Order: sequence, then C-alpha cells, then structure tokens
Amino acid sequence: MNFNYTDEQLMIQQAARDFAERELLAGVIERDDHAIFPTEQVKMMTEMGFMGMMTSPEYDGGGMDTVSYVLAMEEIAKIDAAASVIMSVCNSLVNWGIEKFGTEAQKEKFLKPLARGEKLGAFLLSEPEAGSDATSQRTTAEDKGDHYLLNGTKNWITNANCASTYVVIAQTNPEKKHKGINAFIVDKNSAGISLGPHENKMGMRSSDTHSVMFTDVIVPKENRIGDDGFGFKYAMQVLEGGRIGIAAQALGIAAGALERSVRYAQERKAFGTEIFNHQAIAFKLADMAVKVENARLLTVKAAWLKDQKQPFGNASAMAKLYASEAAMWVTTEAVQIHGGYGYVKEYHVERLMREAKLTQIYEGTSEVQKIVISRSLIK
Ligand SMILES: Cc1cc2nc3c(=O)[nH]c(=O)nc-3n(C[C@H](O)[C@H](O)[C@H](O)COP(=O)(O)OP(=O)(O)OC[C@H]3O[C@@H](n4cnc5c(N)ncnc54)[C@H](O)[C@@H]3O)c2cc1C
Repeated sequence: MNFNYTDEQLMIQQAARDFAERELLAGVIERDDHAIFPTEQVKMMTEMGFMGMMTSPEYDGGGMDTVSYVLAMEEIAKIDAAASVIMSVCNSLVNWGIEKFGTEAQKEKFLKPLARGEKLGAFLLSEPEAGSDATSQRTTAEDKGDHYLLNGTKNWITNANCASTYVVIAQTNPEKKHKGINAFIVDKNSAGISLGPHENKMGMRSSDTHSVMFTDVIVPKENRIGDDGFGFKYAMQVLEGGRIGIAAQALGIAAGALERSVRYAQERKAFGTEIFNHQAIAFKLADMAVKVENARLLTVKAAWLKDQKQPFGNASAMAKLYASEAAMWVTTEAVQIHGGYGYVKEYHVERLMREAKLTQIYEGTSEVQKIVISRSLIK
C-alpha cells in the first residue's frame, strides 16, 4: 500500500489549487448570487486541459489517471463547486463513456473535440418521472430504419445550454423494459430540441441546469452507443465512474469548509480567547477533520481501483455516499463555528452548505447508494 501521490499527481493538484484561488475565488459569490455561468473560467479550465483530463492522448485528451482527476476536482470544488460539476460531467459522464464504449468513428467525430474542450458535453438520463428509477424512461427513440426519432423530456440536465454534445438515454423497445433502452450521441443543434428555463437552484447556482425537450429529433443510426438495448447498462456503468467525481466534489466542499473553519476559529474571539481554545469548537474541528480524511480515503481508493482496472462500482457508491453525507455534516458545523457570520454570504460557508446538499441527491441519491452497497453484500 502506498499513500504517496506521484510527482505528476501532486503537480496537477497544485495547478488546480492555484487556478481555483487565482481565477475562481474572486467572483464566486457574485456568480452564485446571480446564477451567472462561469464562461471565462470554463474557458481557462479548458485551456488547462481540465475538461478532457482523463481521456487518452490518442483522442486528444490529457491521459491522466482518475486519482489526478480526484485531486483536481477536490481543489476546484473547495472554491467553486459549480465549476467542478461542469468539469465532472464532461470528464466522467460524457467523455469516459464514449471512449470506453463508442466506435472509432464516434470517438473521432465527438470525443476528440470534447477532449480538447472545444465542445462541452451533457448526460441526459433523468426525466420528470424517472429519477432514482431510471428504468422507467418515457423518452422514446423509435427505430426508423436508417435513423432513430427521439421524443420526450429530460429533467435537471447539467450543461444543457452550454454543451454542444448530448449523450441521451431513451427507450426503443418498451416491451423489453430496461433491456430496450439505448444511449445516443446527439448534436444539441439538431432540429426539434428546445430547453426549459434555467433552474433557480438552492446551490451550485451558476451551473447550467435546464430541462430538455425532444420533438421528432432525427438521430443517425451510427450515433447509437453499443448494441441495441445496451443503453441502461451503459448509463449505470457511466454513473459508477461519475460517482467518483461527485465524491471528489463533496470532499472538496467539506475540505473547503474545514479549512475556513480552522482559520476562523483562530481569529474569532469570545470570552477573552480565540474560539479554537473552547474545547467544544476544537472537538467539532477534530470530528470534521476525521470525516474529511475518511471521505478522501474512500474517494481516492475508488479512483485507484478504476485506474487499476479492478471493479470499482461498490467503492464509488461508498465514496459518494460517505463523502456527500460528510460534506453536509461538515458544512453545517462550519456555519455553526462561524456563528452569525456563517449565515451571510461573505464567509462562504453558507454557500458550501447549500452546495453540499446537492451531492446527496444527484448521480444517485444517498438512498440509492445504499441500495447499491447493500445489494453487493449478498452477491
Ligand atoms: C442540480 C441538479 C443537476 C442534475 N444534473 C443531472 C444531469 O446532468 N443529468 C441527469 O440525467 N440527471 C441530473 N440530475 C437529476 C438527479 O440525478 C436526480 O434528481 C436524482 O437521481 C433523484 O431523482 P428524483 O429527483 O426524480 O428523485 P426521486 O427518484 O423521485 O426520489 C425522491 C426521494 O425518494 C427516494 N427514493 C426513491 N426510490 C427509492 C428507493 N427505492 N428506496 C429508498 N428511497 C428511494 C430518493 O432517495 C429521494 O430521497 C440533476 C439533479 C439536480 C437537482
């Protein structure tokens, strides 16, 4: 067992930390307040190679491992979790799936511009009536011989407006239930695609979330990923990887709240001494630190298993469950440590608390992770 990161991993971690502090911190409160998409910052993240960092160089990506991705995600999420989810969707939910399961032609046409960051991607699985139960897809992809015809509505789609390339999950053969579902690469500019308004969210307010409507959208046959009926399996496998990204995001949110709380506790005085000297506060910080470290260990382990090409689905569910629950707890305690100052925006921790909440919900709620983990116990 080796707990040391490589020089390259440490370099990526430092680059992400420097970038987040230099470019993301200054405007993060304003972007969150007014739900402003971080256009310039995403451009810089693209130039730094963050959007396609795990895609292999053969397809114009950075060729970095999942551990490096986790380290970078943690640093970005510490400062601006909304920016980190844009990065997470591109890397884990879109690029990785196309690289692993796509045809050479799909990789040439769609993956390369995504990995270069010239285009952003979005992953469209959830629907108004299909969230945790992703098998009950109502969006249909009717087989018309040389093409499919897409009809239906997707909900809560991150990057819906800024992305150019969609990966859409839809039902082709309802009689086969989840084995009739397919995954398609869809050009967002295709005729028949329209977007709902930007969702007015509790947290991650500057990330770009919309519903997406498909009306008789023509999708070429060659855009289907994998064999007919592979779509549900595809979505589940992609989410296994995606959860490592969300675990890293939750870890970053928790670690950011801890760092801010440690600093504040050494500055703020009450009853004639820094509040750190009150054991109730020091012990809170100790509990927070243990949770952050546990979240880090589980997350990096899941990433390492993926890099070793070992099964990682259960590890990623554990990491996502633990890190998101830890993030919620740690950020709530961070607000408490900041007292009244924790309740206003300037001190950042109230935003971190709102951001943490989402990590318990998307890419499978905490309850869904427990379903995955408990089922693995009796296999
Ligand atoms: C900001 C945001 C961004 C998102 N981005 C994307 C995206 O890019 N792409 C995408 O496809 N989706 C996205 N989602 C959707 C997200 O993945 C779903 O919201 C999530 O999977 C939960 O589905 P639901 O909202 O329909 O809740 P439901 O499935 O209706 O769940 C409601 C509650 O019931 C619980 N529950 C449901 N089933 C069970 C069960 N069997 N056992 C125990 N408890 C259960 C859930 O845990 C939850 O607490 C996003 C959501 C949000 C809010």
